[in-house]
Amino acid sequence: MKVYADNAATTKISEHALAAMLPCYETYYGNPSSLHTIGQQAKEILEDARSRMAKCLGCEAREIYFTSGGSESDNQAILSAAYTGAKKGKKHIVSTAFEHHAVLHTLKKLEKEGFEVTLLSVKEGHNVKAQQVKDAIREDTCLVTTMYANNEIGSILPIAEIGKICKEAGVVFHTDAVQAVGHLPIDVKAENIDMLSLSAHKFHGPKGVGALYVRRGVPLLNLIEGGAQERNKRAGTENLPGIMGMTVALEDACENMEKNAAYVAGLRDQLIAGLSRIPHCALNGDPVNRLPGNVSFCFEGIEGESLLLMLDALGISASSGSACTSGSLDPSHVLLAIGRVHDVAHGSLRLSLSHYNTPEEIDHIIASTAQVVETLRNMSPVWRDLQTGKRQYIL
Ligand SMILES: *Cc1c(COP(=O)(O)O)cnc(C)c1O
Repeated sequence: MKVYADNAATTKISEHALAAMLPCYETYYGNPSSLHTIGQQAKEILEDARSRMAKCLGCEAREIYFTSGGSESDNQAILSAAYTGAKKGKKHIVSTAFEHHAVLHTLKKLEKEGFEVTLLSVKEGHNVKAQQVKDAIREDTCLVTTMYANNEIGSILPIAEIGKICKEAGVVFHTDAVQAVGHLPIDVKAENIDMLSLSAHKFHGPKGVGALYVRRGVPLLNLIEGGAQERNKRAGTENLPGIMGMTVALEDACENMEKNAAYVAGLRDQLIAGLSRIPHCALNGDPVNRLPGNVSFCFEGIEGESLLLMLDALGISASSGSACTSGSLDPSHVLLAIGRVHDVAHGSLRLSLSHYNTPEEIDHIIASTAQVVETLRNMSPVWRDLQTGKRQYIL
């Protein structure tokens, strides 16, 4: 049995989204900046897509800027708000310790340029509380940037509350909503969101395309110099096939959101219940305010990488929290941020589900994981030490 359970990394494109892209290659292949008919047809499709995206998010079409994805949107939103703030002498930014690297690395760059960054702790309840944001905002704060939902452990942040606090304090509020858009109901106006990043490939759209919502009146600086596309805020010929695929994927996701979220959350709870029966494990992330598709566990006495490879051999595509791909053996900054010690954080497993998964697949994941964890523990000197009492169990 083949089971894809890594939807937080990327999703399979839907047939509908893929079909919507093809005419943009075959028929409407013009450049939207060209004045001839084929170009103007492409321009019409582009602006139609913008209106439809805006409708899904509860904003105006002119508040949507198309980008290459979540990372670019995060970079532009944060750098733009920071440099705009600096012009007024405001060089303090509030964020959280469990942001995506697209946010954290951008903040690191700003720190080197003299900005001060406060990263809120996420130990308690594996989440942030709106009050922490309120307490961290200062006279010189130019930006609050907190993710909508965490990509590793699934915690959903109190965005509407944070938005209200930022509005009252007069501070720009950006949210990296890459894991939330298409999965959770979002209304940028009601939640007082000034800027929002999204990425198509996280909701069954194509890769390499995303958007940045910027509330009218909030200044936006461009990062890419060149042509006048996207009202001078993002140069480069528009990725029309990608934008069309993204629009259709978002409309479908929003239309079926309630049904899909209920179904996927059912699978999630089945999986959490099954994995919880494995001894000496712990669920990571907010147990209540949690993405419908996220399951994240730490298992004591094993290496997450070995677990992943053995699950892969059994047909299951999952993810661990470690950053071993980058050649480092450091465990995930997210698991460390919620207070997992190194040894425990190394034994992590993330399974992220979609509506394409089935209850039979979940049973297969549960049985396979239980079996592989036992096999790995039987080979582990650390596990032996835990069992003989030479070492103390943490979980
Ligand atoms: C995937 C992801 C990103 C990056 O999006 P890309 O489109 O792959 O650049 C940013 N933030 C979060 C929370 C993500 O899950």
